[in-house]
Amino acid sequence: MSFAPPSLLTIDLDAIAANWRWLDARHPGQTAGVVKANAYGLGAAYVAPKLFAAGCRNFFTAHLAEALTIRPLVGQANVMVLHAMLPDEAEVFTHHGITPVLSSLPEIALWATEGKRVGRVLPALLQVDTGMSRLGLSAEETRVLFNNPDLLTGITITHVMTHLMNAEISEHPSNETQYQRIRTFQRQFPDARLSLANSSGLFLAPKFAADLARPGAALYGVNPTPGRLNPLTPVVQLHGKIIALRDVEPGTEVGYNGVWTARRPSRIATVAVGYADGYFRCLTNQAFGYFDGTPAPLVGRVSMDLTTFDVTGIANLNLGDSLELLGPHCTPDNLAQAANTNGYEILTAMGARYQRHYIGATPLK
Ligand SMILES: *Cc1c(COP(=O)(O)O)cnc(C)c1O
Repeated sequence: MSFAPPSLLTIDLDAIAANWRWLDARHPGQTAGVVKANAYGLGAAYVAPKLFAAGCRNFFTAHLAEALTIRPLVGQANVMVLHAMLPDEAEVFTHHGITPVLSSLPEIALWATEGKRVGRVLPALLQVDTGMSRLGLSAEETRVLFNNPDLLTGITITHVMTHLMNAEISEHPSNETQYQRIRTFQRQFPDARLSLANSSGLFLAPKFAADLARPGAALYGVNPTPGRLNPLTPVVQLHGKIIALRDVEPGTEVGYNGVWTARRPSRIATVAVGYADGYFRCLTNQAFGYFDGTPAPLVGRVSMDLTTFDVTGIANLNLGDSLELLGPHCTPDNLAQAANTNGYEILTAMGARYQRHYIGATPLK
């Protein structure tokens, strides 16, 4: 006999598909789905086939292992790996029909060698560092490549790409600087298309969408336009189950180190969610749970498996009920603000321990 974990994470795949369609309709180019980090923690094995059914034919993961997971779930779609290709991985890429993003001269050499081995011209994206100093060809590597075009013999560069460092700050001058740099680079590859926008990049000037946009966070309901209304459909809800309810006297300390003390007769709900679930310890005394829309302040320390909320005066609340910890009243962006982080970290940290309910799942192969 198996028991479901007490707290429930609901993931609306229909909303993810709707978000992809909406973003795709915003611009004339193609729209990929970024499903790295297990689709931002939401389950790549569910998200990738759902996006495929919605019409998505280009998928990005961070690592080869992630690409191998989704490869059988997305038909003939392009599966592309954003991060480094290691020497012993090249044949795995070709064997499974996965496309690398080449970000250095050694990777280019590796892919050219692999092309010779299999006797085919192999596709790849070429990533250029236009400002982030993280991945991509450096200015020096770019010069070497332009002076030695033979380095690319056996490789078809389908796209040149770069990644924006300040896309969510629309007025930031680095956006235009990076755009000009990648356009200059692209002139050397007249047949290659251009890819630079992440989610927020799709809300800059239209030219940033280019030929292949790479949204991730916005698919999952994170606001790509911080400070403005979120145009995307919410995707996740988290309901924490109340496993204890008690009434405490004024002066009672709650939780580790007594960092919250009741000032009035209070009713405390203990919820089966904690920092081991990705409900961050730094939310101590900072967040709210909601019952039928009524806020209940998080009181005391978030502990590993439990968090306490002040539910004083909330009518009709019973043991076994749940508090909304993420949902219409507290979005991942709201919770991120309370935790001094971003919505990305809230989503990707969400633990594997929750009971998961998927809305709109396509049948798994
Ligand atoms: C993660 C990532 C994306 C997606 O970014 P979002 O901000 O989540 O839309 C796009 N491109 C690259 C290179 C990435 O690493």
